[in-house]
Amino acid sequence: MNVPFLDLKAQLPLIRSEIEERFSRIIANTAFVCGREVKEFEETFADMHQAEHAVGLSSGTDGNHMALVCSGIGAGDEVILPANTFIATAEPISYVGATPVFVDVDESTYNIDVDKIEEKITPRTKAINPVHLFGQPADLDPILEIAKKHNLLVIEDAAQAHFAEYKDKKVGGVGDLASWSFYPGKNLGAWGEAGAITTNNEEIHQRAKVLRDHGSAKKYYHDVIGFNYRMSEFQAAVLNVKMMHIQKWTEQRRANAALYDSRLEGIEQIKTPNALDHVKHVYHLYVIRAAKRNDLQSYLKENGIGAGMHYPIPLHLTEAYAYLGHKKGDFPVAERLADEILSLPMYPELSEEHIDYVCKKIEDFITL
Ligand SMILES: *Cc1c(COP(=O)(O)O)cnc(C)c1O
Repeated sequence: MNVPFLDLKAQLPLIRSEIEERFSRIIANTAFVCGREVKEFEETFADMHQAEHAVGLSSGTDGNHMALVCSGIGAGDEVILPANTFIATAEPISYVGATPVFVDVDESTYNIDVDKIEEKITPRTKAINPVHLFGQPADLDPILEIAKKHNLLVIEDAAQAHFAEYKDKKVGGVGDLASWSFYPGKNLGAWGEAGAITTNNEEIHQRAKVLRDHGSAKKYYHDVIGFNYRMSEFQAAVLNVKMMHIQKWTEQRRANAALYDSRLEGIEQIKTPNALDHVKHVYHLYVIRAAKRNDLQSYLKENGIGAGMHYPIPLHLTEAYAYLGHKKGDFPVAERLADEILSLPMYPELSEEHIDYVCKKIEDFITL
């Protein structure tokens, strides 16, 4: 049996013809950027996340950058983020001339350790940038409390957490701003690059719309220096069609995770993900921990199973951030995770047979 890590072809039959119809309409109208599809996307996406506003952008990385610029964060400022995340959380902090300040992650949720945030706050700190890693919301209440106490903004990196919930509220409308990615492999994925921010703040909403289009509210009248972060009509069309199915797909992911949990429960050498009681985890990735991780990954590969590492090197030890002067041992939990984590195949259409096969092969490996 072959179980790929991700199978984007599996959902094509359900959505392809409607997307092609929308593509034809876009082509006939020759309106390719920020038109009616983007408007529909922004309204639907904001609504589905219980946020007041969404602004469609060209990628999730641009979303993080936009969130920082809209928040007035710049040279000399500091932004707090987890040490274990995709580099696109940190890069935009560098783009604006601010310093990424890493915090270790929680051993059981893999998210930012809320007990270690306050010790990193200095007079230069402007924002906390939690990541809802693998689809599990960061523990937002204590984060909001710390932010309030120290007068900081909370920018959610929600790139992996579409339709996830924190205490019965969708993420993306909880902090001051949230950034989203619609990279093809994300839970809600475009057929190319796309991203967004959501916010409940009308001023930030207006600022983001102007900034994404060269700082102009009126064509060729540039109020500020902006960017070209406009969203493609084709990508918005894909997202609009997919949003009609996303609730079902999200539940399928959760059901697949529950199957993995039950099949792997008895295996002592494997640690399954721990979802907090008060969150709805949407399993962008299903990440286990295993002591002989590299050997297990190779064994699964030999047996036709794709498994990944998210992420093999924590950001404080990555070459790009060597200038911050961190060393091994600075964030022990993130470092331990990097050596043990393995992401198993996860997508809505994964079948019970697939999951049984993957779990059987993990058992075989353990008893080798
Ligand atoms: C994917 C991702 C991003 C960046 O999104 P792109 O659309 O690829 O630019 C940012 N943060 C996290 C946590 C991600 O997983």
